[in-house]
Amino acid sequence: MKSRFAPSPTGYLHIGGARTALFAWLWARKNNGQFTLRIEDTDRERSTQASVDAILQGMEWLGLDYDEGPIYQTDRFDRYQEVIDDLLKKGRAYYCECSKERLEKLREDKMAAGEKAKYDGCCRDKNLSSGVIRFLNPDEGRVAFRDHVKGDIEIANSELDDLIIARSDGSPTYNLTVVVDDHDMAIDCVVRGDDHINNTPKQINLYTALNWDLPAFAHVPMILGSDGARLSKRHGAVNVMAYRDEGFLPKALLNYIIRLGWSHGDQEVFSLEEMIDLFDLDNINKAPASFNQEKLIWLNQSYIKSIELSELIQHLQWHLESRSIDVSSGPKIEDVVESLRDRSKTLVEMADGCVMFYQDFAAFDEKQASKQFSSKSQPVIEALHSRLSALDVWNAKTVHGEIQGVCEQQNVGFGKVGQPFRLALSGDGKAGSIDVCAELVGKDRTLARLQMAIDYIKAF
Ligand code: GLU
Repeated sequence: MKSRFAPSPTGYLHIGGARTALFAWLWARKNNGQFTLRIEDTDRERSTQASVDAILQGMEWLGLDYDEGPIYQTDRFDRYQEVIDDLLKKGRAYYCECSKERLEKLREDKMAAGEKAKYDGCCRDKNLSSGVIRFLNPDEGRVAFRDHVKGDIEIANSELDDLIIARSDGSPTYNLTVVVDDHDMAIDCVVRGDDHINNTPKQINLYTALNWDLPAFAHVPMILGSDGARLSKRHGAVNVMAYRDEGFLPKALLNYIIRLGWSHGDQEVFSLEEMIDLFDLDNINKAPASFNQEKLIWLNQSYIKSIELSELIQHLQWHLESRSIDVSSGPKIEDVVESLRDRSKTLVEMADGCVMFYQDFAAFDEKQASKQFSSKSQPVIEALHSRLSALDVWNAKTVHGEIQGVCEQQNVGFGKVGQPFRLALSGDGKAGSIDVCAELVGKDRTLARLQMAIDYIKAF
């Protein structure tokens, strides 16, 4: 059993493509089969190496591993030529020299007559030996197939064009290469976007002409933005790698995109094993799905809370590096991450939250400092500094005890000590539980930062 993902490298891997890849991958994994990655790069003008790299990077980041590939169609031109020659020899394809002008006029005339604009077969019997090559589509009969998503589909052959299978420079077109490849690579199940559903009957006629068995088909509906229009750059990040940059975990994104157009009762959160176990092509919704950023964030947060610490840190690494955070210069990253995982919606938030533990800052947030650091809070901060300096055992509990001590000594509430302390420790006031933070920041750094706050007040 084998499925494939066959992107054209004319852009990055986007959310819609990633979902198609995920569905095809799940089908293969569920059936203990194989998954092939095929790069459909025959359109040399629009295909770029940067896109190929982006697709490979996206697949790797998502963890959608493939057993075969990447196979490049540009490496297979000889094979396509062989099949085209075979179709010509069998009389199932022919050369066509119709000019652009003629085709254009034909189209206009047909449209004006209210008919479907299709080629009229003018060159079918001319026995030409140059020009484009067209497949001789049967005139009679119907093409019928069952799509796993869309159900039964049937179309009369009279509706179908003699499609071009090779351009005048001899290069093969998508509809030919996809059939040859899916056959040669023994693909049992074709999962792809429903923008290709109109190609499928033409491709089926090619399979039949070549005497090849048909794969199963599943045409997946498109993804819409929250405003109901087709998901595009306008809606924000559609490039899969942009989700990494924004701090999403690949598993959260996979969980999110599987739910875009597929469901299993009301269940929202699925482990990979559950996805593989429960996924079924027949449960894919027929209607387009809408993207919902809030739900993605909610899922991401729940994955940040629940995944293995080592996996979380592995994905956080990229964000730490992009902030030049050197974790060897501070507390154990495991402890820091544990302290942050309950309050981080994204890895960006988490990485921002890590900074105070590994990097000193040159100045406090001015607006907050002017509020928190004043002659009023000075005695509190000085008392805190002196009590903490005397502490021998440094941990959240002992620090907490000293904060409490300052409160009693100065006769103030916890907030009056905690708030300036939080700002002194973090520089921007963004920090979790203050005693835990102080434990992780360490005694020397904590005292230095409190001193910095005292100096700030004195300089005022
Ligand atoms: N290369 C096509 C695309 O990126 C997909 C073709 C297919 O899956 O059959 O749209």
